[in-house]
Amino acid sequence: MLFTRCPYCHKNVLRFFFSNHKAKHEASRSDGQQNEYVTLHPTGRFQGSLSGIPQCYVHPKCGVVTRMPEEIIRSYLINPFLYGAGSFCCGCGKHIPESELFWTETGQNMAEYTRDLRGQYTQKYGAPPPRD
Ligand SMILES: [Zn+2]
Ligand SMILES: [Zn+2]
Repeated sequence: MLFTRCPYCHKNVLRFFFSNHKAKHEASRSDGQQNEYVTLHPTGRFQGSLSGIPQCYVHPKCGVVTRMPEEIIRSYLINPFLYGAGSFCCGCGKHIPESELFWTETGQNMAEYTRDLRGQYTQKYGAPPPRD
């Protein structure tokens, strides 16, 4: 395959240029947050209502609440294996392990929440999604 599908902008990019292209998406902004995050293609994202889905998390260490971007929520609801290394904390200006973050709506620990979603996914499909 000459082209590869970019997981950030969902365009077909020549394989030869892809690492350059990808680096642009991953370049850090001045606040430490990545320019963009890997998401599912808009048509593959969760299309339903987000009512009842937690959207803000607090980092008790600094006390700051961060809102999760909607395109990320709609992506992980379909594929809970997409993220997991941690989430960005606006208070600390860096990524924090999920085990240190708590949803403000439910009080649930984010690592536990992700584990639950992954468990439901593998129960439904038999295995985690293939990595590309
Ligand atoms: Zn791209
Ligand atoms: Zn923090």
